[in-house]
Amino acid sequence: MTLWEAGAGQPLDDPSLLRTDGLIGGRWTAGKVRHDISNPATGEPLAKVANLDEGDVEAAISAAASAFPRWRATSARQRSRLLMEWYHLIRRHEDDLARILTAEQGKPLGESLSEVRYGASYVEWFAEEARRLNGEIVPVEDTATRALVLRQPVGVCAAITPWNFPLAMVTRKVAPALAAGCPVVLKPSEQTPLTALALAELTVRAGIPDGVINVVPAARDRAAEIGAALCASPVIRHLSFTGSTDIGRLLMRQSATTVKRLSLELGGNAPFLVFDDADLDSAVEGAIASKFRNAGQTCVCANRFLVQDGIHDAFVSRLTERAASLRCGNGIERDVQIGPLIDERALRRMETVVTDALSHGAMLETGGQRIGQRHFAPTVLSKASHAMRCAQEEIFGPIAPVFRFRTEEDAILAANASEAGLAAYVFTRDMGRLIRVSEALECGMVGANTGRISNAELPFGGVKQSGLGREGSRHGLDDYVELKSITLGGLE
Ligand code: NAP
Repeated sequence: MTLWEAGAGQPLDDPSLLRTDGLIGGRWTAGKVRHDISNPATGEPLAKVANLDEGDVEAAISAAASAFPRWRATSARQRSRLLMEWYHLIRRHEDDLARILTAEQGKPLGESLSEVRYGASYVEWFAEEARRLNGEIVPVEDTATRALVLRQPVGVCAAITPWNFPLAMVTRKVAPALAAGCPVVLKPSEQTPLTALALAELTVRAGIPDGVINVVPAARDRAAEIGAALCASPVIRHLSFTGSTDIGRLLMRQSATTVKRLSLELGGNAPFLVFDDADLDSAVEGAIASKFRNAGQTCVCANRFLVQDGIHDAFVSRLTERAASLRCGNGIERDVQIGPLIDERALRRMETVVTDALSHGAMLETGGQRIGQRHFAPTVLSKASHAMRCAQEEIFGPIAPVFRFRTEEDAILAANASEAGLAAYVFTRDMGRLIRVSEALECGMVGANTGRISNAELPFGGVKQSGLGREGSRHGLDDYVELKSITLGGLE
């Protein structure tokens, strides 16, 4: 039995997608040591993956720098074709990619497949956008002068991605970089490198040239060293990071010495506002979709449910009933809706959040404890208040605290009382209020009468301490290009 099978990894149609070495300059690189990748549903190791070090990062940066002149000179149309080929390969292998994703990350197979398609849609989108890197011709005062604005690739880019969306966070960064003509050095999370390496294998098959994509997997105790090396390198001109706000701040400080461009997709603390006139069914379904997807481990998950007096009790009772009905289990089993949490640390954090809330007067409506060793029961807490950790911090797990409010003004004040500003949700049938509240919320994305908010056509990102820059949409290339003006004189 292989390690993959012993760890309950599902058989793959194409086992050669299971790559365990890093990719540097087109060569699979084993490094000096390896580390175990475990299945969060079983705790068993699935694979031994290369644990690369600072020297390997330097090699990856050099490989990317060597690839840059040729890649930037490749026509936009050709870059677009190569990206489109990568997109088609991802879609062709979507079932295998979903199996790999569920095995190392834990989310139910159906959610993994959705993530593969969602992640692939960014590759398709940026394959199309690659051909629209248009510049400008600007009229100026002097009639003997013409002024041009070019959009040129920023240079070698670095990307650091988290474990909660091991596929989509990679494509959201790598696809726009490649579209703009920039090579990439990618460091995936320690816990989920297999999905990133399978994607890298598909870039090789797509014919994307050596050195344009380099992947440096590493164990957690090397993350700081690798992050520091990427920040310190003058060759890296742009760093895109998705992860916690604390690490985002650290990378920002470290990047000051080389005045790097930064795209930061950091933590959220999304308010979910339900007004008395909301459609109860759609508010509850929106709440379930937003809160419990990926067992609550997403940056745009509703963190605080702010519910108006008149609908409060009905909402709590319906949400409790629906949350209690969600089926927890191994994500490979049919009908499982909630997979395991990523690790023991996450489970312990959930216990602390519940204990803290109860000690401050919250009422436990359902859940509140582990189910077996690896799952945390979908939890609803009522009587939540601002003093609790669940109000102040990103919960990042399946706990839904419900707060009561009286007026629209109170709701907006409470919703904005956070240093984070990523996503927010509002449910009301009053169109005036829907627009007014959506505009007043301090965040980058609003779900107005919906719990689902993200697609490749829209800008994704936050305000305040949730980060800098936007991924996806026609604005998603901006971080990967420099504007250059050329003044053409003496044209009489
Ligand atoms: P994390 O601990 O900040 O890790 C994110 C990535 O940074 C991982 O690859 C991690 O490597 C790496 N890392 C850790 N320490 C580092 C250091 N000193 N220097 C450089 N890299 C370092 O976050 P996480 O727990 O994986 O992810 C959850 C967080 O991500 C949540 O706050 C969530 O809101 C946020 N998130 C935001 C978005 C968004 O679009 N705004 C999307 C998804 C997630 P290791 O895993 O190997 O430690």
